[in-house]
Amino acid sequence: MGQILDGKAFANLKADKLKEKVKKLKADGIQPLFCVINIGDDSASKIYVRTKKRRAKKIGIEQKIYQLPANEQESDVIKLIDQLNVDPKVNGIMVQLPVPDQIDENHLLSRIDPEKDVDGLTPASAGRLWQGTHFVEPATAAGIIGLLEHYQIDLDGKNMVIIGRSNIVGKPLAALALEKNATVSLLHHHTQNLKEYTQKADIIVSAAGQANLITADMIKPGAVVIDVGINHVNGHLVGDVAFDEVKDKASWITPVPGGVGPLTVEYLMEQVVKLTRRANGRQ
Ligand code: NAD
Repeated sequence: MGQILDGKAFANLKADKLKEKVKKLKADGIQPLFCVINIGDDSASKIYVRTKKRRAKKIGIEQKIYQLPANEQESDVIKLIDQLNVDPKVNGIMVQLPVPDQIDENHLLSRIDPEKDVDGLTPASAGRLWQGTHFVEPATAAGIIGLLEHYQIDLDGKNMVIIGRSNIVGKPLAALALEKNATVSLLHHHTQNLKEYTQKADIIVSAAGQANLITADMIKPGAVVIDVGINHVNGHLVGDVAFDEVKDKASWITPVPGGVGPLTVEYLMEQVVKLTRRANGRQ
């Protein structure tokens, strides 16, 4: 039976370390301030925003939420971003995705000052990530790398298969895993015969958003399985991996919930702390 990669426990350890860092900043009169722009009434977004607020408070980060109406115009959101960009008290800015249809999320993301880009999604941050000159990383991807390191699972020379090529998970994770010398395959919904790739993988990361996508016959014995998916099935939260059957074949596996989810928010907080330190010359 595979061992559990306990994201929740690791996230709590991470939070304790961040709390210490924030304490030191506060002792020098520096209060990290993180601004979240949420547009519209997406119920999942509202939950994420509340979770972030709770975690930020726990660590000592101040979080300000700008809740904008669903019919807000793009130009008004851009004005707000511009104001936050030049406000010296603000250390981090993020736009909660998705945004309503009348707004182009890329216009908003490219407007955020890369020095305040906690999500690591501006074109400058994404470019830096692939260049290896990054100072922020998208939180979910950073959390997965951190979790593997915490459990001393080496990526060097490993065959890593990532399912899902989104800008927030798959692509940045591929860039970070390459830095750790993994051999990376990035799969997506046009990939023919997923199994051909997953059966050869030492490490499989599924970020597709499809319940039961990864079954036991798709993995090799002893593989490490990381489940990023969040799916609601019959009122239950499940990942992309058929956990009950895959856990017996894997060496390590993340549960859902309690795996990657708690890490994402903690790593987001870490980016706020990093950017606050950077803005105050503490690199
Ligand atoms: P997305 O929805 O933007 O894209 C999904 C990706 O998966 C696409 O690249 C698509 O090509 C691929 N895909 C979908 N079905 C596939 C299939 N059957 N075979 C192969 N590839 C397939 O992705 P996202 O925003 O990265 O989110 C992915 C999942 O991860 C969602 O369930 C989301 O809720 C979850 N998520 C979880 C966290 C977390 O902290 N746990 C963070 C971000 C996203």
